[in-house]
Amino acid sequence: MIINFHTGSKLLRLTKKHKKSISGIVILRETNYLDAKESCVLNRMQKRWEVSQAAIKSGLNGKHKSVGGMVGGEARKLNKWLKSKKRLMSKTTLKAATYALANTECNACMGRIVSCPTAGASGVLPGIMMAVKEDLKVKDEKILAGYFAAAGVGIIIAENATLAGAQGGCQAEIGSAAAMAAAGLTEIRGGTPEQCLNAAALALKNFLGLACDPVGGLVEVPCVKRNAYGVTHAMMASEMSLAGIESFIPFDEVVEAMSNIGKLISPKLRETAMGGLAVTDSAKRLEKKLGILKGED
Ligand code: SF4
Repeated sequence: MIINFHTGSKLLRLTKKHKKSISGIVILRETNYLDAKESCVLNRMQKRWEVSQAAIKSGLNGKHKSVGGMVGGEARKLNKWLKSKKRLMSKTTLKAATYALANTECNACMGRIVSCPTAGASGVLPGIMMAVKEDLKVKDEKILAGYFAAAGVGIIIAENATLAGAQGGCQAEIGSAAAMAAAGLTEIRGGTPEQCLNAAALALKNFLGLACDPVGGLVEVPCVKRNAYGVTHAMMASEMSLAGIESFIPFDEVVEAMSNIGKLISPKLRETAMGGLAVTDSAKRLEKKLGILKGED
């Protein structure tokens, strides 16, 4: 039995036909694709989940400094703020943002992470999953289902648009990460497949047009902190979707819009570090300090 999908609408048709969740269909696709047993596919994802948990732990200790020196210790600070009486955001949301920072700090400090969908945007999904595991007491089995649902969204974006900042700007990285996490979180919380894709559409829409403008060409600023914002967008999208709020533009059309916008974004704002935050005075000072040479000023 060949199970595959190229669009969200096809994915939803498959969930109906096979009476499965999004994660169930993605697992079936992977068993086909890898010619492997379901247990093997689940084990592979479990290993990735374990790597991400270790990355979060490493980032939380805040003892590392990034190559460019712009990142290090942010997750530790937010973790401390979690205990503050002045905190306004919910504990779970702030915790997820803290973990997202920790994972991406680990990446910026050359630690081991799981690229999901990219290294720069690798904190959003595990950040949310770790907070949900702790605060909602969700078992690993369910977390993996969230990961597979997120993967389904990632596959569709990759096939119809892009996941690369160099091709589509940061909307393709942090935007896709938020969309994936929104779908995964919604499935974990008992949302229907339609609600999962709707959450993905809501999250992705809010990142459309976001430039990729890394200071010094390093995946540090604005990358790391954008992961914390990715968390809040994904969680908000999941809340709205479960509350019955629908995206006026369906998921497949949002992905198409993202692809179109990516083509319209100047190459200066697509990972070349030749526009936006990357050409500010502070960025130029950093480049001078590190001896970074660029083809164009
Ligand atoms: S700014 Fe560019 S390098 Fe940084 S996370 Fe976004 S897409 Fe990736």
